[in-house]
Amino acid sequence: MPVERHALKACQAYAEQLSAGKVGHIEHELWPFGQYTDDSQLMREMLLSFVACEEFDPQDFADRFLRIHQQNGIVGASRASHKVAARLAAGIPWRAAGTPAPYARNGSAMRAAPIGLFFCDAADRLLQAACDQAKITHLDLRSQAGAVAIAGAVALSVQVNIIYPPQFLEQLSGWVRAVDAGIANHLEQLADWIELPVDAALAAIAPLGDPPESLKGWEGISPWIVPSVMWSLYSFLKSPNDYWQTICTAIAGDGDTDTTAAMAGAISGTFLGIEAVPKSVSHFLTDQGKWGYQPLLALADLAFHLTRVRQVREEEGLASRWAAASERLSAKLKEN
Ligand SMILES: [Mg+2]
Repeated sequence: MPVERHALKACQAYAEQLSAGKVGHIEHELWPFGQYTDDSQLMREMLLSFVACEEFDPQDFADRFLRIHQQNGIVGASRASHKVAARLAAGIPWRAAGTPAPYARNGSAMRAAPIGLFFCDAADRLLQAACDQAKITHLDLRSQAGAVAIAGAVALSVQVNIIYPPQFLEQLSGWVRAVDAGIANHLEQLADWIELPVDAALAAIAPLGDPPESLKGWEGISPWIVPSVMWSLYSFLKSPNDYWQTICTAIAGDGDTDTTAAMAGAISGTFLGIEAVPKSVSHFLTDQGKWGYQPLLALADLAFHLTRVRQVREEEGLASRWAAASERLSAKLKEN
């Protein structure tokens, strides 16, 4: 947050200082170091929703989205986000409240990571849930596809022990293609750019998806869905075994740094585990004096536990259906 939309050089200097272990030396004008923004706040609300419902319920998440806006708790949200909240408050159903196309920004993807955790073993449900939660704010299919890419990257990071960028991107592209072929093609293209240094990658990725005139004033990675999702994946895939380097690469892309770092960090944290997240910074986490490191960790643990419970229940359900089927079969064989 402290360097969102600062000049490119300032972001890159900040990332270098972070890499050198210097934290908290740039203060935001309004907030202390450690205050997180809407991306992480809404990921937390999604985890809370999942824990309360023991499944992903878009209506419950939309209610929580509305509540945090109404309570003035949201930090750094766009004007469009407040307008969505106003439409939800006016009784417009969640499926219709989102900003219509061609508004294809990244608010749909910035909070999608927990979906990848809940449905890490069920691609069809991951797709449905990622698109549903996206629709609450963004009706454009590209915004929904970007959410699938981020949730999908988290799901893959749960499943695999080693990251091979071409295979990783091929799998993501396969899921995303069901929603938007253009973004699926960009994901495949990204495999060729992972080796590029930051400046060359930035030149290739920032203009992707043809950001509209209204975002032309952004230096680096704008909040347009295509470049911000691609930059987050680039940041992760360039250093899959180094959480901190991934965060610094995301910030070095300038522009919508709080969002790219939130998305890249969620993927990297999933892959590497909590031990890879430096305590020297995570202990600063706060949301206006609440929801610091320990309660967030407890919430994430609970959500993961419930995910496992769901998986075990489904495996047991499958096992008992198999047992019943085999009993019927053996009874039939005896009859004959
Ligand atoms: Mg942002």
